[in-house]
Amino acid sequence: MNKNYMTYPLKNMRITCRYDEGSHRKHCINVTNGLVDYPIDDAGIDTGRDPIYCPCDEMRVTNIQGVGNGYTNTIWLVSTTDVVTPTFTGIVYFVLTHSNDDDLKNKKVGDIFHRGDIICYEGTDGATANHIHFVCGKGYCDNWKENSNGAWVMVPGEAKKPEEVFYIDRSFTKELWGGSLIWQDLPKEDKQIVGTPVHSDPSKDQVEVLIDHLNARMDATTSSNSYGYVKKGIYDILAYNQKEDYLWVKIENFWIATKDGWTQVVKKESIPCEEEIQKLKQALPQLIFTCNQSGKYLIYLEKGKKLYLK
Ligand SMILES: [Zn+2]
Repeated sequence: MNKNYMTYPLKNMRITCRYDEGSHRKHCINVTNGLVDYPIDDAGIDTGRDPIYCPCDEMRVTNIQGVGNGYTNTIWLVSTTDVVTPTFTGIVYFVLTHSNDDDLKNKKVGDIFHRGDIICYEGTDGATANHIHFVCGKGYCDNWKENSNGAWVMVPGEAKKPEEVFYIDRSFTKELWGGSLIWQDLPKEDKQIVGTPVHSDPSKDQVEVLIDHLNARMDATTSSNSYGYVKKGIYDILAYNQKEDYLWVKIENFWIATKDGWTQVVKKESIPCEEEIQKLKQALPQLIFTCNQSGKYLIYLEKGKKLYLK
């Protein structure tokens, strides 16, 4: 993405509780001490624990609570640079609740996540069924406070409704149930051109990109997010993966699908090592025949033939 857009953090949107429904009402309705936020629950595709992905270019963990104690597990993140949302451009915060202990126990304040990294998974800590409860807003956030309704609200920062903060990237998120909220589509944009081509080097496996619109993907699958289009030129191959009828190759920090006409893969030249040279030498005839008496011998050789004598 050529702008740091805030995009919905799950691949399957299935909102099971809006901010104005059920237990969430006490977060934002009839609050007398000004402490509000707008949580939603998303249960994903519901065949397990869906991952929640970093929704912008970079976020930093500012607090983690609940692992190994009585609080409901919660992780706070704040963007490290300004993010473009449907309603403002600025620093954003994102707070997620209900992930399990095994998910959060190895994470710590200061951890950095980049767009598309998995922050955590849906969980059941403080909940009866797998889901993630999250709130978002503008500014910095690393704590919680009880409001006049007894709901724990994330502070400081300016709470915003999720549809005011997240765009939906329809190439990433499938809207199974959007809670009848009005979600903005990610603005259409020219894709970024990525990649720094290198010189041809016969000692390495390399790939030459021959076309202008080859997607640079985060993973070796056509369903994975695209960083943009790869600049034409030669790149070193870092890894291979055979998937979905394509041979995928990893170059720099992304994957491309190889296909005749799109790309040309050039395997490194095999240069014989010292051991192989010795073997080749030994394979040459050392002995043609043994003389059993001294004398003169007449030998006829065709042009280019070699005679070895010892
Ligand atoms: Zn909730």
